[in-house]
Amino acid sequence: MNLSSASAASAHPLAAYGWDDGWAREFAAYAERGLLPGRVVRVDRGQCDVVTPAGPVRADTEFVTPRDPMRVVCTGDWVAVDTDGDPRYARHVLERRTALVRSTSSERSEGQVLAANVDHAVICVSLAVELDLGRIERFLALAWESGAQPLVVLTKADLVPDVTTLSYLAQDVETTAPGVQVLPVSSTTGEGVDVFRAIVSGGTSVLLGVSGAGKSTLANALLGEDVMDVRATRDVDGKGRHTTTTRNLLVLPGGGVLIDTPGVRGVGLWDAETGVGQVFSEIEELAEQCRFHDCAHGAEPGCAVLAAIEDGTLPERRLDSYRKLVRENRRIVAKTDARLRAEMLRDWKLKGAQGKAAMAAKRGNLR
Ligand code: ZN
Repeated sequence: MNLSSASAASAHPLAAYGWDDGWAREFAAYAERGLLPGRVVRVDRGQCDVVTPAGPVRADTEFVTPRDPMRVVCTGDWVAVDTDGDPRYARHVLERRTALVRSTSSERSEGQVLAANVDHAVICVSLAVELDLGRIERFLALAWESGAQPLVVLTKADLVPDVTTLSYLAQDVETTAPGVQVLPVSSTTGEGVDVFRAIVSGGTSVLLGVSGAGKSTLANALLGEDVMDVRATRDVDGKGRHTTTTRNLLVLPGGGVLIDTPGVRGVGLWDAETGVGQVFSEIEELAEQCRFHDCAHGAEPGCAVLAAIEDGTLPERRLDSYRKLVRENRRIVAKTDARLRAEMLRDWKLKGAQGKAAMAAKRGNLR
């Protein structure tokens, strides 16, 4: 994130949407070709809504829709828009700084990009129900893997009966989330809301969490009004018509950008080895002190991880959870590799068949 206020980027019409000197540099070559920069606020069946210095436009994504689902345009992307044509096209997607990716389902091994260029991955956890630490760890792995900085917000803090209980709950989450700020908030009493607002006032944030985690209440607290009213903005499109669009990316009145990803309930990991390692950084640090390099922390002599469980510094639950996520991640990677191999084989066979057909046709012509 570039915060130099004297820069040209801060005066840019898209500065509120996160435009900075870095994006300006990336975009320079496209500007020379007469394309406009824009940030994608919504994607919908081959089209995307983009905010540009010339106002909001709807652009076709035909040119930038590759076969790789990981490279499909998504909310938060910066694109180069060709505004002269009809239809207008998004011609290029600028390289993402970060990307939140989950696996689409357990059946199909495909990654789905939920949001691009996110700075803060805010994991919302309700204090009104029992803490599910395993679920928090899973969200954290997804968040770390994206390249964004995770933040855990404990919502509905006013429902916790006393301060001592609240600090115990916060401590539990803190030991689960090394290197991550854990912030209790209450939209009823206002506790923590100002701190939260200040954190997300720089950069792009996305709210993650299961339904009931208090995401919409938190979004409303940031927006200062009902989200649905703000999301349905009346735009004038290029043909002078008024259209009502629902946006998934919103500029916050206090600064910063919020991406709302509807339907993020369960999150499957997607090739998140680095992310998992970061969630369990204390275990990975301990593992370096194990006597054997390939220690599985089972019954090996000189195991530093088991010693930490023995002396109570590492909760056994953490090791179990770590193992579970590592296993899950390996399954996904193996499945993906198998799918890629199958696809490559199919392409190769297809090319082979086409080659044979071409040869046969040639021979036919010669005859
Ligand atoms: Zn070990």
